[in-house]
Amino acid sequence: MSRRDYYETLGVSRDAGEQEIKSAYRKLALKYHPDRNPGDKAAEDQFKEAAEAYSVLGDADKRARYDRFGHAGVSGAAAGAAGFNADIFADFSDILGDFLGFGGGGGGRRGGPARGADLRYDLEISFEDSFAGTETTIQIPREETCESCHGSGAAPGTSRETCPQCQGRGQIRYQQGFLVVARTCGQCRGTGQIVPKPCPACRGAGRTARDRRVTVKIPAGIADGQRLRLHGEGEHGAAGGPTGDLYVVVHVRPHSFFHREGDDLFAEVPVPFHMMALGGTFPIEGLAGPIDVSVPAGSANGEVVSYRGKGMPNVSGHGRGALHVRLVVDVPRKLTKEQKKLIDQLGKSMTVDRIEPRSLDAEEKPFFENVKDLFG
Ligand SMILES: [Zn+2]
Ligand SMILES: [Zn+2]
Repeated sequence: MSRRDYYETLGVSRDAGEQEIKSAYRKLALKYHPDRNPGDKAAEDQFKEAAEAYSVLGDADKRARYDRFGHAGVSGAAAGAAGFNADIFADFSDILGDFLGFGGGGGGRRGGPARGADLRYDLEISFEDSFAGTETTIQIPREETCESCHGSGAAPGTSRETCPQCQGRGQIRYQQGFLVVARTCGQCRGTGQIVPKPCPACRGAGRTARDRRVTVKIPAGIADGQRLRLHGEGEHGAAGGPTGDLYVVVHVRPHSFFHREGDDLFAEVPVPFHMMALGGTFPIEGLAGPIDVSVPAGSANGEVVSYRGKGMPNVSGHGRGALHVRLVVDVPRKLTKEQKKLIDQLGKSMTVDRIEPRSLDAEEKPFFENVKDLFG
């Protein structure tokens, strides 16, 4: 497949708006869709090309990358030279929807049982809550089956009736020359049934919008970006179809000094230089109470002490990660006369003749290498 400019493919300018791109794509997709051009290889290629272009330009992030880096910026995102990507079809079912019969069913009677839509909810939690786990109640606006008509759309005491126009077939067949042509019945819109007296609660739709309160259990150790699937908490299905699912996407606010990497935690602590030389212990405020940090005597700047089992709990319940504390020498800036005198005495007692640079391959790892290892 040639690497045509995506804007050119869709026939829009580089500053085209979201809506313009969408409708340009829709026009092309309808024109070149394989169902309308059976066996036409050129049309199929046009169709794929338009789908690929739209998969990039229809997504604000990918479009920005494409604008800056061209095809290279989105090579992983689009179908590219690898050929047609079925996912692209799936993504666009919402746009093309009924036009092309992507919505499922396709022809014949419409309005049968359909699964309810999945819902997404973005939930922000604190770092502490991701550590300990929590439970929270969220409010989800969703479409539910109308309680007063149980989804039939017919007023209580009445019921749906077979459409008199099409006798329940959902289609009207008529002769056109030698051909018998079928079209969707206008009176029942293809469902084969009519509601003679609509339910007043839902105006015949069979569904109502509701705010549902859902309790969500957040497991300890959940990481930023992970999602929880709540089975059956999505929208109700149509005509008795199954209910969709609710996806709760968890966003974890960063902590003021703990940084998470996998199940491990990282922190950096300034340590007074005398403690780096002589060793010592001090407590830091951990996520589950104080943790005693031991400084080995003669610690180098940037040295890391690790504590197994003091990191984040594993979200699947497999123990806990480690805590890595990076010790950084805290050189005092303000000293009293007395302190200056003492340090001076200390210096004089240490008989250093000359200070020379040393190779970076010295025994201790240079601290920036440590940092790279631990903090990515
Ligand atoms: Zn109703
Ligand atoms: Zn009908």
